[in-house]
Amino acid sequence: MMLERQRILVVDDERINRKLLSELLEVHHDVVVAKSGEQALERMQADTGIDLILLDVMMPGMSGHDVLRRLKGNDATKDVPVIFITSLNSVDDEEIGLDLGAADYIIKPFHPGIVRLRVENHLRFVRQRKMLETLAGRDCLTEIDNRRRFEEVLEREWRRAGRGTGPMSLAILDVDYFKQYNDHYGHARGDQALKAVAKALSGGPHRSTDFVARYGGEEFVMLFPGTGAAGARELAETVRRAVETLCIPHEYSAIAPHLTVSIGGATSEDFQAPALALVEAADSMLYRAKAEGRNRVVWLA
Ligand code: GH3
Ligand code: MG
Ligand code: MG
Repeated sequence: MMLERQRILVVDDERINRKLLSELLEVHHDVVVAKSGEQALERMQADTGIDLILLDVMMPGMSGHDVLRRLKGNDATKDVPVIFITSLNSVDDEEIGLDLGAADYIIKPFHPGIVRLRVENHLRFVRQRKMLETLAGRDCLTEIDNRRRFEEVLEREWRRAGRGTGPMSLAILDVDYFKQYNDHYGHARGDQALKAVAKALSGGPHRSTDFVARYGGEEFVMLFPGTGAAGARELAETVRRAVETLCIPHEYSAIAPHLTVSIGGATSEDFQAPALALVEAADSMLYRAKAEGRNRVVWLA
């Protein structure tokens, strides 16, 4: 399995430190830098993909301690590990830093080899935590269920439907022109857009048995056990409209000035075939929705 590159934010007011640390870490990781505490918080607000922060303590304006307090006070950032890297070298300073919730503490002038090893240790914990979330059925970015969980639920509902609980409908949703969105607005804004779409999906007028998950990339699935084609199609249309109503600007979409989604759906009354047949049917309807102009729902008649 190829290891995904992890992203590190280096925060230091001194250019030379930013440069040394970037050069040291960017061989194996993506490194972004901030020159001040304020900039660091802005970056964390915009970029949900930061895995680890190296944070200077003494900076003009907001100090590293202030930055860490703010990060810990925000649900979106409180779990991102922070390593203080500072010339404050008394044990009291170190205790204050760790007490604020820092994951580690490195004293300047730093030894490059030690910085790299400590960073690798913390990044390994981050990967393990994400792996646990995945195994538990959670998508780390959008915090809704993931594909793994979807496949379990689909199998379970398929068996239940086989005992005569009625039809089952499935819709697959794909964001339109999302590559252009990423290319022009950046990956961080792309991530935020995916979170917003996931929220619109899971906040819809669903019954408790309906199920939504992130299928992968910019694709989501919705499962409607016990719902026939007409009803499910109506629900899918509600979701399509809900995403439009978010009015997320997308100047580079060829079909609308805002972000839109295409949805393909299918309904099954026959549960002898494998469940995968329903997924494939919905997927081919998605393909048709794209071909017919996007921003629409196409249901297998
Ligand atoms: P179409 O309208 O035909 O669906 O075009 P598209 O550009 O949406 O489709 P394409 O499959 O070419 O591009 C999908 C893009 O989604 C490419 C990839 O960069 C982006 N993407 C997938 N997963 C993520 C993610 O987790 N975060 C971000 N920011 N982008 C993602
Ligand atoms: Mg797409
Ligand atoms: Mg796609």
